[in-house]
Amino acid sequence: MGDYKHIKVPAGEQIRIVNGLPETPAHPILGYIEGDGIGPDIWKAAQHIFDEAVEHCYGNTRKVAWMEIYAGEKGNAVTGSYLPDETLTAIEEYQIAIKGPLTTPVGGGFRSLNVTLRQKLDLFACVRPVRHFDGVPSPVLKPEDVDMVIFRENTEDVYSGMELASGGAKAEKLKHFCETEFGWKINDLSGLGLKPISPSCTRRLVRAAMKYAIKNHRKSVTIVHKGNIMKYTEGAFMKWAYELVKEEFGDVAISWDECKGKAGGKILVKDSIADIFLQQVLTRPREFDVVATMNLNGDYISDALAAQVGGIGIAPGANINYETGVSVFEATHGTAPKYAGLDKVNPCSLVLSGVLMFEHIGWVEVAEAITQAVTRTIGSKIVTYDFARLMKDAKEVKCSEFAQAVVEHLPA
Ligand code: NAD
Repeated sequence: MGDYKHIKVPAGEQIRIVNGLPETPAHPILGYIEGDGIGPDIWKAAQHIFDEAVEHCYGNTRKVAWMEIYAGEKGNAVTGSYLPDETLTAIEEYQIAIKGPLTTPVGGGFRSLNVTLRQKLDLFACVRPVRHFDGVPSPVLKPEDVDMVIFRENTEDVYSGMELASGGAKAEKLKHFCETEFGWKINDLSGLGLKPISPSCTRRLVRAAMKYAIKNHRKSVTIVHKGNIMKYTEGAFMKWAYELVKEEFGDVAISWDECKGKAGGKILVKDSIADIFLQQVLTRPREFDVVATMNLNGDYISDALAAQVGGIGIAPGANINYETGVSVFEATHGTAPKYAGLDKVNPCSLVLSGVLMFEHIGWVEVAEAITQAVTRTIGSKIVTYDFARLMKDAKEVKCSEFAQAVVEHLPA
């Protein structure tokens, strides 16, 4: 344990996971990956806020022992690998980590480090709460009506990496197999990919969404899918989701078909076709609460909803395996390379991901204090460039200055 080549384990205690939930000591070791591009700027800002908020809430009785773990460009510079094995081992051993964004090349090069991390650590639920913070500029009339939590399945679907390049021998072999075995006509030189959706992964994701809805007194869970077109993948997801709800949550939840929308105090479980869902979150967002969906839908939906409440600069995220307790909290935007090192961008996405992390480890006072401080800072119109250009009379500050303002707005 803790015998790493590059990672230095700080003095502190390890979080223990009991029945999937963290038991947090006074000096927990939490891992962090700074990230590429704007990662170092936003991490510095976020860590400042985290440490000050912990001290603010608990004086010197509690303190996080931060452990740097390496991935991405810094990983390559320090260890010679973009995703060193010891990074995965450290996250598995210390269970909880937070990360900035990592660069991914498009259409070639290495696979997405984010996707690889999620798959290797089996972080099956990507959890994205989407709500509006007072004063944040938004393109919709009533952003305050949006208060949803997306549970996106993180390990399957067209993201599983089972893809074959156009013209390659393997793609030709699969094409030939599909044509001869199934009579499927596939155009010449097609790139091919598989879309696996299994009952086991569907069930654990929907179980996590249901448990979240129960714990957080949410009113409904909506299963979002394109089952009308992809019957045996997305349609099956919907079917397995309803089955799971009936089997395991029948005492607290009821499906739309059973009650026609009158849930009588139970959690209403309904489903929505993805394209209609994307219209309705704009026209009647109050009808949606917890949302459970597959990987690709979840990706689009999370970012579209984030735009409704002010953009990806402020949307937090978490990747959690609710069975092992291993979790990675992360900024949901990318590395924004043109702003790297300028101390300019908005650190809120990473800061609010930290809020999710503190909630997860049971330090709810810290989570609440940071949430209030961010709300008050933005309410005072102290914001980074991305919000300043959309707000009237805003005071534009640097990333580090925003962090300092948040610290100064920690509640008394
Ligand atoms: P991006 O999110 O990095 O940037 C798009 C634009 O959004 C930026 O130019 C900037 O205008 C704005 N933006 C992003 N973050 C911001 C912030 N914190 N504050 C203010 N404005 C912000 O998306 P991209 O340009 O498509 O991707 C760049 C790289 O990031 C790619 O390599 C991509 O693969 C990677 N990426 C990583 C993650 C991740 O690590 N989870 C997520 C998405 C993209």
